[in-house]
Amino acid sequence: MPLTFASPFIREPQIIIEGTSLNQGIAQGYAYIYGPQYVDNPCQSVEKKIRIFLDAIDKSILFCESSSSNQSSENQDLILVQKSLLQDLAWQQRVIKKIENGLSIGQALDATLDDFESIFRKDAFWHARFQEIRGISQLVRQYLEEKSLSFDVNKPIILCAKTISPVEMMLFESIKLLAVVVQDDSSLSHGMIIARSRGIPVINGIRELKKLILNDDELLIDGDLGRIYVRPHRTTIANYDITTKASSFESLEPAQNKTLFSRDGTPVHLLINVNMMEDLAFLNHPSIEGVGLYRTEFPFMAHENWPDVEQQTNFYLNILNKAKEKTVIFRTFDVGGDKTFQSLHKSFRNTKKDWKHTRFTLQRPSLVRLQLRAMIRARVSCDYPNLPLHIMFPMISETQELSFLKVLLQKELNREKKLGNKVPQTLSVGAMIEVPSLVFQLNQFLDLVDFISIGSNDLFHFFYAIDRTDAVMSKRYDLLSKAFIQMLKTIIEKANAKNINVSLCGEMASLPLEAMALLGIGLRYFSINPSAIQTIENMVQSLDIWSIQECMTDCLSDNPFAYKAAHLSIRERVMELAQIQQTQLS
Ligand code: PEP
Ligand code: MG
Repeated sequence: MPLTFASPFIREPQIIIEGTSLNQGIAQGYAYIYGPQYVDNPCQSVEKKIRIFLDAIDKSILFCESSSSNQSSENQDLILVQKSLLQDLAWQQRVIKKIENGLSIGQALDATLDDFESIFRKDAFWHARFQEIRGISQLVRQYLEEKSLSFDVNKPIILCAKTISPVEMMLFESIKLLAVVVQDDSSLSHGMIIARSRGIPVINGIRELKKLILNDDELLIDGDLGRIYVRPHRTTIANYDITTKASSFESLEPAQNKTLFSRDGTPVHLLINVNMMEDLAFLNHPSIEGVGLYRTEFPFMAHENWPDVEQQTNFYLNILNKAKEKTVIFRTFDVGGDKTFQSLHKSFRNTKKDWKHTRFTLQRPSLVRLQLRAMIRARVSCDYPNLPLHIMFPMISETQELSFLKVLLQKELNREKKLGNKVPQTLSVGAMIEVPSLVFQLNQFLDLVDFISIGSNDLFHFFYAIDRTDAVMSKRYDLLSKAFIQMLKTIIEKANAKNINVSLCGEMASLPLEAMALLGIGLRYFSINPSAIQTIENMVQSLDIWSIQECMTDCLSDNPFAYKAAHLSIRERVMELAQIQQTQLS
């Protein structure tokens, strides 16, 4: 990958930048600024500019080809989408026309992006497609510099970007990344979720990132504090223990399963969220009981055509074989937001805003039936055919929607039987609680499910009416606000009262203070980002659950006398308790 590392600037003294930690850990390496501004030469002729632009496209395509060969098949598909977008003549011609009209290459790329944004803004699917076009524009900018050097894959890289989409994140899959630093993305954007799952420090909220950090600057990242040292002093470096944390358990043989207990002996169940097949390696960790959320849409997002039953069956079969006897909860396709399906864009141009998974599939039941058929076939033909098939539906807003999806499932089971095919011995059907309207239908809704999983990423944003990818608005409200926690407590209590297994699979479960508060309101099943396994395990093992229960009861009480520290927020009280428990341990 040709990247420019030579910084023309004289090295200045250390500066310290404070951001927000999205993933802990310490790393030391060199900044690679993704998406630098290309400075146009005003004296270049139009022909020369067009030549440079087309040359940058060729180099970007070559990069896509060379980096796709050592990737997983899912990533390969995503990279191939980037490649086909780069080859798209309509996009190229738009840029060239603007150059011919007198714009510089950078301006022409920006103006083309503006055109697409105004076209795509009208609906959510297309808006997300716009993110991919923004991605290729960034890639082309990388190659506009004529004097680009070869990328040294062994050089320890800290990826710095204004914003990064899930597909762009995957472009760096085979590059040795030590940390990720971004300016604008919120913690719940899917680009950040993928960055965190690499098990490296991730920091966001760095204002004016490109002014403060230059390509090839030496950086020391303190992911625990959300702090970045640019050109760190030798003494600063000496104060840190810079050891690379193992980010995968791939090399470990599956260890004997061990239930995780809190300090006072309460069992706590940990599962993982999986986006990519490679994440399954984390199932080897002894306290991980299974996959609590398999985001099945990720591997198929980039497919040109909707994946057929055979393709899907093989894919699910492979996962079930890899997971062996551990539970895998397959979530049916969750389309929308920053997750786009190429095949859907092509087929259904008039998709409506906010037409997310269920709203989509309810109108295209045949597509959900194909996926259910594939899951049924994968379960009965895998190496563990007698284990239950767990299916989870996302984005349900009304009880009737789930009833409808269950009818589709029943139809598929009947169809398989009629064909003389086997069906799973046990089916476990669950749903995600991600839309607040469901909280007011829980009594009826819980009668329809075997389990529920709280999708706090979406639930939080719909609850506070904010966009989950907007870093500024996302920070305005606290996951540990009284109103939100009270709502989660209602869900957990109602599910427990009906003996319905309840877990939480949003990123909130992977944050130690948040997870502690959740334990305090009765949650015992957590589906977490694999990068958080160690942190959550440590927290659970050092916690007396009775103490957090007492604390949360007090925090949520409406009686002013019961509230021991009325001036403190829930976050401050949980933090205080965490510090006390920590001191008792040491
Ligand atoms: C959620 O919304 O909390 C969730 C886990 O789903 P996703 O992040 O894939 O939208
Ligand atoms: Mg969701």
